[in-house]
Amino acid sequence: MSSAASVLERCAVLGRVSEEPDRLVRRYATPAMREAYELVGGWMRDAGLAVREDAAGNLIGRRDGPGKTLLLGSHLDTVVDAGRYDGPLGVLAALAVLERLWDRALPYAVEVVGFADEEGVRYGTSFLGSSALAGRFAPAWLALEDADGVAMADALRSFGGDPEAIATAARRREDLLAYCEVHIEQGPVLERRGAPVGVVTTITGQTHAELCFIGEAGHAGTVPMNARRDALAAAAEWMLAAESVARRRQGTVATVGRIEVEPGARNVIPGEARMTLDVRHTSNAVRREAIADLRAEAQRIAAAREVELDWDARGETAAVPTSPDLTDLLADAVAAATGHIAERLPSGAGHDSVSMATVADIAMLFVRCERGISHNPAEAVAETDVAVALDVLERFLGELR
Ligand SMILES: [Zn+2]
Repeated sequence: MSSAASVLERCAVLGRVSEEPDRLVRRYATPAMREAYELVGGWMRDAGLAVREDAAGNLIGRRDGPGKTLLLGSHLDTVVDAGRYDGPLGVLAALAVLERLWDRALPYAVEVVGFADEEGVRYGTSFLGSSALAGRFAPAWLALEDADGVAMADALRSFGGDPEAIATAARRREDLLAYCEVHIEQGPVLERRGAPVGVVTTITGQTHAELCFIGEAGHAGTVPMNARRDALAAAAEWMLAAESVARRRQGTVATVGRIEVEPGARNVIPGEARMTLDVRHTSNAVRREAIADLRAEAQRIAAAREVELDWDARGETAAVPTSPDLTDLLADAVAAATGHIAERLPSGAGHDSVSMATVADIAMLFVRCERGISHNPAEAVAETDVAVALDVLERFLGELR
């Protein structure tokens, strides 16, 4: 079997390791995650790696070497009703390349990391596993409880981790050569450009907000149209304005993912419309300008319709650039493997690379996925694309110093 076929086969085997019989869900520190570790840890051992788990529950397979350590990997947890490639592909591709390089001396050590939690489904945290390696694990997280009231500290302890020793999972920048992650694109760009893989330039920054238009509820039959203060109509006008604001600025994405209307009845004029806003761009300045415009539009519409506006900023994360040198090296490897100039693209989704960037130079290789679908059991990659990704990663490791 080719190594690409073997990677896909392993993704399929791992994709059956779930907390539920009929869909894939594998959350942090669960028995399903333990079973996944038995599998992946076994494959790591078969490949000659020394396997351990750190205090936060990350799975790590090490190949010794001189000098600093190159970290490769991705996450082994999933969302609810997940596909089989988001996360595991990066871990298993890294492992497959080390299997290929078994006989070859490298001027550095390599560790393949399966992060214990990236999606944050169980505790609502983001990048939990990689935060521990980056020394940014928030101790307050240990007190968080899951839907069944199980505290993270207890879950981690029964998983075999050590909540008191989380700090020991942190790595030092001076020990790390780099962090490189292979991941499915989770978007349609590579498919549209007809490219099997692409190198990531930046992981986009995000702003989250919750806003509410507050009008006045009233009888749907008796209040004339010109006497209404309809909160949902204001929200609808603003959502279309938000779409225009984002379209005017190249590369901006703005999404209203949830809207709740009160009182929410057929025969009542909406008194309140509350919604979420998610805005992303590779440039922090452009993203902030877009937010300012979106807010000004909301204020203009609220004033014109005589409704109140409540705008609640829910925080932002800055854009994270990948290392230019490592990305050029990865792009050279793509050109050598495919005979074409590497496609460069930003990542609209967050990844473990975001937290790893605080402790190491980072690079990311995206693999084309069918119709850009992810977080869905329909997630699919082509074996030929995975083969290209493995070639690229192998060349990258060969050139890295
Ligand atoms: Zn992922």
